[in-house]
Amino acid sequence: MLPDQRLVGIRGFLIDAPSRDRLRGIRDGALLIEEGCITAYGSYESIRVAQAGRDIRWLHSPEAVLIPGLIDVHAHLPQYPAVARHSEALLPWLQQHIFPLEKQFKAATSRVQSRAFFEDLARHGTTCAMLYAAVFADSADAAFSAAEESGLRLIIGKVMMDVGSYGSLPAEKTSDRSCAESESLCRKWNGRDGGRLEYAFSPRFAVSCSGELMRRAGELAQKHGAYLQTHLSENTDEVALVKTLFPDRASYTDIYAHYGLLGPRTVLGHCLHLSDAEMAQMAEARAVVAHCPTSNFFLTSGLMPMDRLCRAGLRIGLGSDVAGGPELNMWQVMRSAIETQKARHYHDASVPVVGAVEAFHLATLGGADALGKSRTIGSFEIGKEADVVVLDLASITPYGRKLNPHAQLTAEDVISLLVYRGGPAAVVETFVRGRSVYRAPAPGLI
Ligand SMILES: [Zn+2]
Repeated sequence: MLPDQRLVGIRGFLIDAPSRDRLRGIRDGALLIEEGCITAYGSYESIRVAQAGRDIRWLHSPEAVLIPGLIDVHAHLPQYPAVARHSEALLPWLQQHIFPLEKQFKAATSRVQSRAFFEDLARHGTTCAMLYAAVFADSADAAFSAAEESGLRLIIGKVMMDVGSYGSLPAEKTSDRSCAESESLCRKWNGRDGGRLEYAFSPRFAVSCSGELMRRAGELAQKHGAYLQTHLSENTDEVALVKTLFPDRASYTDIYAHYGLLGPRTVLGHCLHLSDAEMAQMAEARAVVAHCPTSNFFLTSGLMPMDRLCRAGLRIGLGSDVAGGPELNMWQVMRSAIETQKARHYHDASVPVVGAVEAFHLATLGGADALGKSRTIGSFEIGKEADVVVLDLASITPYGRKLNPHAQLTAEDVISLLVYRGGPAAVVETFVRGRSVYRAPAPGLI
C-alpha cells in the first residue's frame, strides 16, 4: 500500500488509446496523483519542473510501462475453478460443469474464493470488472464484502433464474424471492465507496428466466438506475431453444426488448448470431455488447461479427467470460478478438482485420465507454481517476533484461508485444484510484 502521503507520482512509458485507431505514448512520462485522481500528465521532466518545491513521492522508473487499468465487462465469479473443462457446447457445458459448481457457491465458499478471485484480477492488471455471482443472496453479499476490501472497481449481481434453476423452490416463489433478494443487495451495495462498487441485476438468459422474472428485473434495474446484465445469442442451439420457449417474439433480442431489459446500462454477453434487425433494436436502446472471444472459441460458439455490430453503432467491451473463457488474462482476450476477425477475414476479404491498437482500446477506453465510465476511467486524462497498471516489459521480451532489446520500441510495438505475450508475469503493480491493490513480489519490481 502507498504510504499516507497525498501526492504521488508514477514514472514510466505512458501508453493509452484515446481512440480506436490511435495510441498516445510518452517515453519517460509521469502521472501525478492526488486524492485518487490524475492531476498532471506529461513528460517526467516537465512535471518535475512544474511541480518543483512540492513533496512528491515518486514510484517506479523510466523502464516501466504504464497503461490504464484493464476492463473486463463479463465474467462469472463462482465459475473460475472450472476453467478449461471441455464440453461440446454451451448448454451441455452448463449442465455438466457449471451448475453443479455454482450450486456449491454458498456464502462460506464465496468468502474465500471471492477474495482470491479479486487478487487474481489485480494480478492480471484488471482494475474494473462486471461479474455474475451465483443465485444465493448471502453468497453475493459475501462477494461484495470481499470486493469492498479488494479496492477494485467492481459491478456484481446475484444470478436470477426461475426456470430450470438449480434451486428447489417452485418457479413463482423463486421469482419473488430472486427479485426481493436482488433488490435488497442493490440497495445495500449499489454506489458504495463513491461508486466503486455497483449492482447489476442479472437474469441469466432467456432459457432460465420466465417472462415475468425478466420484466421485473428490467423494472428493478430502471428503478434503481442500476446495470443489467444477461446473455444473448451465444450459441445456435441456445438460439433455437429460446425460439421454442418464446414463440410469439420476433427474435431473441425482441424477447429482451419486450420485457424491458434493453437500455444504455444493459450489457449483453456474446451477441454472435444476431440479425441486422436485432442489432438495430439493440442500438436504438443503446444497449452494450460484451465480446468474449476466448469463450466463443473454447465453447465453439461462433465468430463475433464485430464490423456489423460497429456499423450498427453498438458500444463493445471485452470480457473474459471465465469460465467459458479459460483465463482472466485480458491480453489473451484481446489477442482472441484480433484472431476472430482474422479468421472471418480469411473467408471474406471485406471483413476488416482488427489490430492490437484497436483491441487495446476495447479493453481500456472502449470498455469504459461500454460501461458508461469513459469520463472517469479508461485513459490518462487530467481529472480522471487513477486506475493504472505498471508493467515490466523485460518479463515478456525475448532474452529479458540480458540484451535490453526493448529500449527503442514504439508505443505500438509495446502494445503488440503485450497483446501477444502479456500476462500477470508482466504486472509489477496495479493501482485503482491511486491506491495500490497489487504489487508483484521482487524481483519483478522496477
Ligand atoms: Zn457468461
